[in-house]
Amino acid sequence: MASEPLPDIGGETASEMDAHIVKVLRHRVGKDERAARQHDWYTASILALRDSIIDAWFASTRRTYDEGGKRVYYLSMEFLIGRLLRDALSNMGMTREFEAALSAHGLDLAQLEELEPDAALGNGGLGRLAACFMESLATLDIPAYGYGIRYVNGMFRQRIDEGWQVELPETWLAHGNPWEFERLESSYRIGFGGEVAADGDHVVWHPAEFVEATAVDTPVVGWRGKRVNTLRLWTASPLDPLKLDAFNAGDHFGALAEQVRAESLVRVLYPADSSPAGQELRLRQEFFFTAASIQDIVRRHVQYEGDIRTLPEKAAIQLNDTHPSVAVAELMRLMVDQHGLEFNEAWEVCKKTISYTNHTLLPEALETWPLPLFERLLPRHMQIIYAINSRILREARKAGCSDEQIAAISLIEESGERRVRMANLAFVGAHSINGVAALHTELMKETVFADLHALYPTRINNKTNGVTPRRWLQQCNPGLTKVIRDAIGHDFLDDAEKLVDLAALAEDSALGERIAEVKRSNKVALAEHIKKTMGIRLDPDALFDVQIKRIHEYKRQLLNLIETVALYDQIRSHPERDWVPRVKIFGGKAAPSYHNAKLVIKLANDIARRVNADPSVGGLLKVVFVPNYNVSLAERIIPAADLSEQISTAGMEASGTGNMKFALNGALTIGTLDGANVEIKDHVGDENIIIFGLTAEEVAAKRADGYNPREVIEGSRELSQALSAIASGVFSPDDPGRYAGLIGGIYDNDWFMCAADFDSYAAAQRSVDARWEDPAGWRTAAIRNIARVGWFSSDRTIAEYAKDIWKVL
Ligand SMILES: *Cc1c(COP(=O)(O)O)cnc(C)c1O
Repeated sequence: MASEPLPDIGGETASEMDAHIVKVLRHRVGKDERAARQHDWYTASILALRDSIIDAWFASTRRTYDEGGKRVYYLSMEFLIGRLLRDALSNMGMTREFEAALSAHGLDLAQLEELEPDAALGNGGLGRLAACFMESLATLDIPAYGYGIRYVNGMFRQRIDEGWQVELPETWLAHGNPWEFERLESSYRIGFGGEVAADGDHVVWHPAEFVEATAVDTPVVGWRGKRVNTLRLWTASPLDPLKLDAFNAGDHFGALAEQVRAESLVRVLYPADSSPAGQELRLRQEFFFTAASIQDIVRRHVQYEGDIRTLPEKAAIQLNDTHPSVAVAELMRLMVDQHGLEFNEAWEVCKKTISYTNHTLLPEALETWPLPLFERLLPRHMQIIYAINSRILREARKAGCSDEQIAAISLIEESGERRVRMANLAFVGAHSINGVAALHTELMKETVFADLHALYPTRINNKTNGVTPRRWLQQCNPGLTKVIRDAIGHDFLDDAEKLVDLAALAEDSALGERIAEVKRSNKVALAEHIKKTMGIRLDPDALFDVQIKRIHEYKRQLLNLIETVALYDQIRSHPERDWVPRVKIFGGKAAPSYHNAKLVIKLANDIARRVNADPSVGGLLKVVFVPNYNVSLAERIIPAADLSEQISTAGMEASGTGNMKFALNGALTIGTLDGANVEIKDHVGDENIIIFGLTAEEVAAKRADGYNPREVIEGSRELSQALSAIASGVFSPDDPGRYAGLIGGIYDNDWFMCAADFDSYAAAQRSVDARWEDPAGWRTAAIRNIARVGWFSSDRTIAEYAKDIWKVL
């Protein structure tokens, strides 16, 4: 891909870069130019680039110390960072020099970029948000560390076999990782289990076992190389890697058991938690990375400041969801047990330091742990949680809360099996609790945290998510970036909200045509990729209609598939009509134990097989399920999309960030009034987005009033025909009953309101067709989307966190 020339920030010239790469190739990779293979050049290139980054990294760290600045610590179970080469080059302003240096050796930068594996450090939107935030923190020159786990095999690599999802381990570290630095000097012993003893006034936890956490650092470069921050990921090893006596006595596996046990902590993201062993592993992972991070933060603070009491002046700890909630108890433990603070004083320090972001209202996704498990694994933390709870419940009682309210506020769930509520722990231990879009924040106040909010009414606040325009516009869509630059100058590169200058040109037909040409060439490139990888031929002049995101019932890929079937029926029944040619593109992973989500993937593939082979649709409809959706695929697909499907059941998507990336790349959104779609609509204007379906309030009312999906289905011919076709095996002749249960769920209960929203969705799709028939109108709407979504830059989001929560700007 041609790279967009960007203003230089200095650094090496192309010939200096060339000499540097060759030197690295010889001395660090151990190859000469003649023997070097592509992969050797790739490694040498990253190492050479990293050398430039290191200088900027040291300078940033030194500046933070000199300025005595406050640091932000972002704790997250996931960092879905994707590839780093293009990002680092572009942000360092070295792309052109690099291309020239490589071409001197007959190498193509774009080809080398393809050799980089996506870092398998995340799952979906929450992890991608953490990655965008890290980049924006560096861009805004805020000293920050991201803290997480260095997963050896990530979540999983998705393969599609006969239409079914198959999970394979991600092997992203197979060729090593040239970006990272292992910091053997930054390691901590993390304890589990054992007993708590009193030693006079002093409480001592004697863990039964220890695992060593060691830091592995990756530099994160901000735009224009202003600052380089650190993504610090923990890896695990046993204190005692080999029991030599046992090994020599012939117990070879037993002798290595501790090694395996420690490594299992950093093997995979979200190991299945359907068994007690799986649950225990998850809790161990969470404590492992949280405790290592908190100990690292406290160590750094005490080393430079001497006194733990000033922690809130120098550190802001942000918990990304509840996975690191145990930070509240661990920080309290260090302050009380190791630094001798009074409980009350420690509690004030804790709340001033910590803040928490909530990402979901789904009750099944709110983390709780069985109390016996928690107590066995973390006995001292359990005591601290009880101590916190008794304080909180006393406060609640004093404030006049009822028994019912007190039960909702408690850190311990008492109904049924007793469990520790991690969201409540994070809430009470933090001074700020934020939602990720305006609607989500309001619903948080009304639902999950209603009683906590009544008790602490100033804590909940909103920070609408954003995405970094460097990766999601400049790097993934250099063609569009160039057209925008030619139209409005380059200010938008430093401030995405300057994109609004495009709005005045929305009806400029020359600009519309240039943008349409870029879109078409992105579609051609995607079509070539799909032809090469899947063997499916796509017409780049068709409307590319895209739904890529984790597969989940609330995201309603099934609604889209049902509409696809209905459209297929319509095209066959009315071949005389002028149908708009469409390509329906799906992609996403289903959690390995999520039966219905996996069935939806199979259904998409079953529909694709049948529709794509049917000559009677004459190429008017194609369906593609792209395997192994990840950041790199998103970067290919989003710039080629015409229509962005954001069709979750209203009230269930906290924000979404895919919606923002698509709009920024000139796709129109078809969506419900859910998550950030509401604010996207407010920004782009009602005429430039296609909204359908029930509102969050209407969904809640329908659920409360005893909604009858059967009646709705019987009232819609198109819907009942599509459902019967799927349920009766039209798309699964090899196993006609395959989808009977999935579709039966819609008839019986339809929790996700697929039937309730179908007619409105189908009508909205036909209105999309009508818009497509007016290319000039479509282009104007696309320009208005690009122009008005600059506000959804993660720079804006991070600036708000920095001012309102962290107090660092
Ligand atoms: C942006 C992104 C997501 C989040 O998408 P939503 O549509 O907001 O769910 C998930 N995965 C990847 C790879 C992404 O880039």
